[in-house]
Amino acid sequence: MDFSRISGAPFRFARAAPRAGHDADMQTSFTITQLLDPQVASSEKILRACVHCGFCTATCPTYVLLGDELDSPRGRIYLIKEMLEQDKPATREVVKHVDRCLSCLACMTTCPSGVHYMHLVDHARERIEKTYKRPLADRMLRGLLARVLVNPALFRIAVVAGLIARPLAPVLDLLGLRRMAAMLRLTPRGKPAPPVDRTGKVYPAEGRRRGRVALLSGCINPVLAPSTNEAAIRLLNRHGIEVVVAAGEACCGSLLHHMGREDEALSQARNNIDAWTREIDGPGLDAILVTVSGCGTTVKDYGFMLRNDPVYAAKAARVSARARDVTEYLATLKLRGAAAPLPLTIAYHAACSLQHGQQVLRQPKDLLSKAGFVVKDVPEGHLCCGSAGTYNILQPAIAQHLRARKLANIEWLKPDVIAAGNIGCIMQLAAGTAIPVVHTVELLDWATGGPAPQPLATLADAAS
Ligand code: SF4
Ligand code: SF4
Repeated sequence: MDFSRISGAPFRFARAAPRAGHDADMQTSFTITQLLDPQVASSEKILRACVHCGFCTATCPTYVLLGDELDSPRGRIYLIKEMLEQDKPATREVVKHVDRCLSCLACMTTCPSGVHYMHLVDHARERIEKTYKRPLADRMLRGLLARVLVNPALFRIAVVAGLIARPLAPVLDLLGLRRMAAMLRLTPRGKPAPPVDRTGKVYPAEGRRRGRVALLSGCINPVLAPSTNEAAIRLLNRHGIEVVVAAGEACCGSLLHHMGREDEALSQARNNIDAWTREIDGPGLDAILVTVSGCGTTVKDYGFMLRNDPVYAAKAARVSARARDVTEYLATLKLRGAAAPLPLTIAYHAACSLQHGQQVLRQPKDLLSKAGFVVKDVPEGHLCCGSAGTYNILQPAIAQHLRARKLANIEWLKPDVIAAGNIGCIMQLAAGTAIPVVHTVELLDWATGGPAPQPLATLADAAS
């Protein structure tokens, strides 16, 4: 395939990367003026690292499903390159294929040349958002998601409304409103938890204090799964770690960032950086812990996202350097008296943001195994479950195919429970299976003296 002619645009030879041993590096043709924009300059560097070998296509979920080169990382890289080089508004074709990208980052794990696809596609999404006028219904839905998902009070109301309207999902499907139907089907079956504002609260260590950390409360978690952070706090306190939910912290901006709404995302990031900086400069923080791996990937990237902000660049880098997935931090502690209350077989679902975005691979499984659970890897574990932030609402057909494939692989293991480290994956999988799906940290809390995770309560009662 002639990649230089995607969309029929001519390929302009102007600048090649002179890297030894990489004579097939991608050539780019940006003008000097374009390269004065630091964002373009950093994307150009990423583009030049691609040797168009195509290794990434094999692990890209959309290429595996759709078989279209333009729905592969390599195809998208060419489309993005063309969009940026030509400095024109995004075309419908670019939008279609970039929208289909899950930002799962499996391509980054596979790429032998270290192409930072995440930063490239983030830039593309922002450019699309700023230059492309989506159809009205699309704009309305995206606007609604951007407003509701980041605000726990509004989100709670939306979840209750979704619960009531859930039986209407098949009707919406018949009317062609598949995204609305998908949103209703993802609504959890139980009522959302009553609001508990943890911000500004300090949870003291039990016994001698060994450390002090901040825990991101976030926006979705307190409504859909408050039990996750409750378990994390208990577990950390029990092991001598003081936990603070910093006053003033809120949504990390991850969902907005992935929708290309960069100004709003950066505003959320700055807010959290200020909140955590007060703690770092005040009582001190050993780490900033996140129990939602999608959010963790973004907090770890604050340093890059704000690198050109003279006021926030240094503070953002300091925050990102302290950001850890909760299992990363737990792995540095010796969990005392860990013993699985039941000999359960766990299918460990590696969230893409954790395995590809943060390269946290071993810690969750090691912690669960050491606690006495039987842990099994899911076949095709590198493929996304289709959750991917708002993807399962905005691209329901692909998301449902990916979930069916993921659940078939999981069910083949015949597990008692599925463990994951990301609320998006937990909701996505739970909507399609009767197997209980819980957060890794809830199992670890249970194994070290905490209560049984709610989806396992009946099982635990029967065994006691
Ligand atoms: S694997 Fe890396 S270098 Fe090869 S085509 Fe994909 S992004 Fe480019
Ligand atoms: S992020 Fe995932 S879906 Fe997007 S191109 Fe890479 S592998 Fe494919």
